[in-house]
Amino acid sequence: MKTSILAVGTELLFGQTVNTNATFLSDKLNHMGFDVMYHFVVGDNPARLKEKLAEAFSDTDLVILTGGLGPTQDDLTKEMVAEYMGRDMYLDKEVIRQLEGFFEKRGRKMSENNIKQAYLPEGCTPFYNASGTAPGFALSADGKTAICLPGPPREMKWLWDNGVREYLEQFMEKKMFYRVIRTIGIGESDLETLLMPVIDGQTDPTVATYAKEGECTLRVASQKDTIEEAESAVSKMISRIDSLAGEYIYSYDDEELKEVVVRILKEKGLKITSAESCTGGLFPASITDVAGASEVMSSAYITYSNESKIKELGVPAVLIDRYGVVSPQVAEAMAAGAKARAGADIAVSVTGYAGPEADPGHEAGEAYIGYAIGDVTGYDAVNTSRNDRKWNRNYILLRMLKAVYQLIR
Ligand code: ATP
Ligand code: MG
Repeated sequence: MKTSILAVGTELLFGQTVNTNATFLSDKLNHMGFDVMYHFVVGDNPARLKEKLAEAFSDTDLVILTGGLGPTQDDLTKEMVAEYMGRDMYLDKEVIRQLEGFFEKRGRKMSENNIKQAYLPEGCTPFYNASGTAPGFALSADGKTAICLPGPPREMKWLWDNGVREYLEQFMEKKMFYRVIRTIGIGESDLETLLMPVIDGQTDPTVATYAKEGECTLRVASQKDTIEEAESAVSKMISRIDSLAGEYIYSYDDEELKEVVVRILKEKGLKITSAESCTGGLFPASITDVAGASEVMSSAYITYSNESKIKELGVPAVLIDRYGVVSPQVAEAMAAGAKARAGADIAVSVTGYAGPEADPGHEAGEAYIGYAIGDVTGYDAVNTSRNDRKWNRNYILLRMLKAVYQLIR
């Protein structure tokens, strides 16, 4: 079903609020098989709102509006939608009852303008809102449907989960099944080239690639008469993808790399430690982000200065003198030292330039990731050629996780 999202609110046009409602709804609708064709944003202006509503309905059959359902004078979405569909308003007893309960519970008096929220268009399907005061509703006429939802993202999401999604199921002709595959170590265009044999000319399942910072995600989706058929089509496609790009895939279930790393470490009963300079603790921060991290990590090192690398990790000073502190040799010595001192099974380290500055003869984004497992040490060289500190640090973290993943997978 062709769909538009129309966000109402002057604050969205002023750049004070990011239109996260549109992102959320698009994602959900897309996963349900709706074709989201347009995003509109309009200020709190009745004439322009009506104009955009007409424009949205001229090409799409479902329009989801958010914002402007509140009790204040500038909240006019509901009235404009009712007018557009030629409906009068009625006072909804259930909303009144809920509003009274809402204010009573908070020991506050309901103001006169709150009553405004209890008016709904005749013939609508109300979505009562237990997470706030403004109800949402769906209203249909001549094969077109408008759904109005409150602006606050928390309330909008609550209504989505408690009524809207179920309401929309009547419009789904087919059942949709999808899986999200995550890859690391290959760029989006290379991945697309690699997968060309299975994605070229393919209409179902569809395979879409999305590049995220340093990573690439694939969404494999199928729409069939039954969920079983869709699932089976997706599985077949995934095995073909696996045979072409399996070496880059680290999750078939949309997990993050840190989650996969912690899961495998747990499964194999391995303890990990890390030693970092330029990422300043991002590695243990990301490991401990995952529930159950205490089973796999007991300590980690942040050794920013040369002295601390020597003192805390036992890196031989001569290595730093001979090869420089940002070097493969120092990275490996950091990992070996951290592993021994923490009594861990595996250690990962990094020494590098996050930027924007680097020492003479070096570039921002140059880093060496060392690792130690058993008696073996090794390193990966990273060069982002960027002088964006934040980006470099996050990318280097991802490469540390990748190095670990490749050692334990
Ligand atoms: P209220 O009852 O709070 O007045 P409302 O339906 O009238 O609800 P708005 O007044 O338009 O909603 O917006 C309320 C809040 O929700 C504001 O803080 C606004 O920044 C936020 N908001 C509105 N629209 C969006 C949107 N599209 N994406 C993210 N946040 C939004
Ligand atoms: Mg408002």
